[in-house]
Amino acid sequence: HKRNPHEPEFHQAVQEVAQSVIPYINRHPQYINTRILERMTEPDRIISFRVCWEDDDGNIRVNRGYRVQFNNSIGPYKGGLRFAANLTLDTLKFLGFEQTFKNSLTTLPLGAAKGGSDFNPKGKSDREVMRFCQSFMTELHKHIGAHTDIPAGDIGVGAREISYMFGQYKRMENEFQGVLTGKGLEYGGSLIRKEATGFGTVYFTQEMLNEHGHTLQDKNCVVSGSGNVALYTAEKIIELGGKVVAMSDSSGSFHKPEGITPNELNWLIDLKEVRRGRISEFAEQFGCEFYPDAKVWQFPCQLAFACATQNELNLHDAKTLFANGCMAVAEGANMPTTLEASHFLKEHNILFAPAKAANAGGVAVSGLEMSQNSMRISWSTEELEERLHKIMRKIHQQCMTYGRDEDGSIDYVQGANIAGFKKVADAMLSYGVV
Ligand code: NDP
Repeated sequence: HKRNPHEPEFHQAVQEVAQSVIPYINRHPQYINTRILERMTEPDRIISFRVCWEDDDGNIRVNRGYRVQFNNSIGPYKGGLRFAANLTLDTLKFLGFEQTFKNSLTTLPLGAAKGGSDFNPKGKSDREVMRFCQSFMTELHKHIGAHTDIPAGDIGVGAREISYMFGQYKRMENEFQGVLTGKGLEYGGSLIRKEATGFGTVYFTQEMLNEHGHTLQDKNCVVSGSGNVALYTAEKIIELGGKVVAMSDSSGSFHKPEGITPNELNWLIDLKEVRRGRISEFAEQFGCEFYPDAKVWQFPCQLAFACATQNELNLHDAKTLFANGCMAVAEGANMPTTLEASHFLKEHNILFAPAKAANAGGVAVSGLEMSQNSMRISWSTEELEERLHKIMRKIHQQCMTYGRDEDGSIDYVQGANIAGFKKVADAMLSYGVV
């Protein structure tokens, strides 16, 4: 608290990891005197910079840009960029710290970083977003590179923003290299990247359910958010036989107890990705109930997918899910569940797939995009989906190896934290005191 004051989200993320990793460290003395966990909580470096741009009315605007390069022990820095009005360094430190463990779990050689800006893309014209992205990259390009740091998208940063930034990087460096992931297919992007986080979250959940004698078939599912992660989580749930009965955005939720159809989901994808509309328009179009400012957790479900943002599922929500007979919660977003809520879920035997493991499919396919860029080839959809599926199975396996409790049950939080920790910690030990 003294060293990192006013950073509640960063503290929360570190506390969650420390709770499961410290008992493991105490059984493995090589990590104690070397102060590995303490070293892992200190980012390698934090870059902060001014981003100046001109809006459509000719006004000069000033935002702040960041890149938190957290840990490059097992590969170049890798992690998303977030554009959100309320973004703080606290949020980026929590995300960068989490990314260290997640990237380690993917089994790929990826270090960890996170970045972004307090720029709010909502309500901005395309030209304004372009000018902002170009100005942002004019500074960021000095700190990144295909072998140094490879940013990707996150909240508020999708295909449009990545494209503007990639165009500017190419212009500044006079080099065509895979320095960003999530690129368009015409210029080095990978098939399945857009779908990867959502698909991966559902694959992981499927493994977890199978391990406990259940399947997704006919399960009522609620999915929070309707952004990149949420939309493709919904697509894979429907493909595997589940029913998506509620989704949301920051203005509220719709509830459709009979489940949405693939055609309705395609309409929603177009609404959100192309027309940039609000979720209430979906309810209007398909004649279902819209609940302003409501979260999806209030609607009865067997499976809950948290795919919007951090701390969106609190203790009250966890109690509601339990009372309604929910059997599993999967985190598609980063740290969507508060510590109190995740403890409650564990105490009440609700299966819990933590973000580091469940949503690692996105960065994993970003890693595969980097491989394709280096080799100057493109893999097919089938090949990539198979690789993604295999990676999610391996992550589940690692959680089982390190998360087995004394009573034989699996604590996925513990499994993901210890497995993610071990690989990075062992690499750091090999480097000596650095
Ligand atoms: P998007 O910007 O595409 O979508 C975010 C969605 O969440 C939108 O529907 C948004 O609603 C909603 N939302 C945002 N803030 C709030 C809030 N405070 N309350 C309620 N709803 C909110 O982002 P992504 O889908 O890319 O990211 C979602 C989460 O997944 C984040 O935690 C991110 O870090 C994580 N993640 C993303 C990965 C990726 O590959 N994209 C990879 C791994 C994790 P509205 O449209 O109204 O703003």
